[in-house]
Amino acid sequence: MTVVLTESPADLEPTDPLDMLVVAPHPDDAELGMGGTIAKMISSGWRVGVLDLTTGEPTPHGSESLRRSETNRASEALKLTWRGNAGLENRRLLHTLETRELVASYFRVLRPKWVFAPYWQDAHPDHVAATDLIEAARFWAKLSKTEMPGDPFHPERVFYYYCIHLRLAVQPSWIVDISDHWDAKLASIEAYQSQFVTGRSTQSPTILDRLRDEASNWGRLINRRYGEPFATKEPLALTSLECIL
Ligand SMILES: [Zn+2]
Repeated sequence: MTVVLTESPADLEPTDPLDMLVVAPHPDDAELGMGGTIAKMISSGWRVGVLDLTTGEPTPHGSESLRRSETNRASEALKLTWRGNAGLENRRLLHTLETRELVASYFRVLRPKWVFAPYWQDAHPDHVAATDLIEAARFWAKLSKTEMPGDPFHPERVFYYYCIHLRLAVQPSWIVDISDHWDAKLASIEAYQSQFVTGRSTQSPTILDRLRDEASNWGRLINRRYGEPFATKEPLALTSLECIL
């Protein structure tokens, strides 16, 4: 497993297409929202990448170098196929023509079958901007006669994971059973000590306790130990009703 940290899609070596690319405003959003599903699909042999749009810094207890080493540890915990950082500015993430072309360029080079974006409703402006930007970049990636690297490419689907800063009672489109991959998800989140441990209250329930409670509640709804919710705007096709738990 090789984790590639790069700033420019044009510098990427050509590889086989990814099955899934999770796009995250900040390093840790992918882990929080869908670390269990990422670990599950990788264990099934899928090629899964994470593209962080910004470094996520500054934060009260983090630094650029610390966050980067934490991101590497989290990537190892999930056994990611690929991880990159688009180098956009934290707290100033905007959907512009330039950022749309940049993210579309990653799609053209990495050729993910499916793209995962943050859920569209959030209090954090970076997250709302990221969702808008990813949806537009998905369309932009298929354009011909452009300066963007790679060939025109259109990810087949965009789905949404929940890593939100609102106390919403969300109604997901589906829930993935991550019971066998909770430990990998937890390890990937614990890798970000500067975000979830340093300076945080150790009194129960801690943030990590809360995350476990949340995963447990999603699991309860599907009669499994742990679950992770997702949303889709377009209807899903099932190969058979047998795949429903
Ligand atoms: Zn975030």
